[in-house]
Amino acid sequence: MSNNFSPLKAVGCSLTRHHFKTSRVVNERIEELCCSKCGKQMTKTIYGDFVPLNDRYAQINRALNDVAQKRKRAGLVPA
Ligand SMILES: [Zn+2]
Repeated sequence: MSNNFSPLKAVGCSLTRHHFKTSRVVNERIEELCCSKCGKQMTKTIYGDFVPLNDRYAQINRALNDVAQKRKRAGLVPA
């Protein structure tokens, strides 16, 4: 899941701060973010929370992205 996560750099991040950048847009409301310094992954949820990306949320996001892609292909939302 997080191949490039570096625990050593994460210690540095805990002293300073993580520097999150969007790594993947799931749909119009949800995106996954990755710390550009240590590689830690976070995600927004359908409830508006900001949580660590675990297997459960990765699975939910894949399902939500599937739906978003299908809606795009069906022309229901602008690509
Ligand atoms: Zn970090």
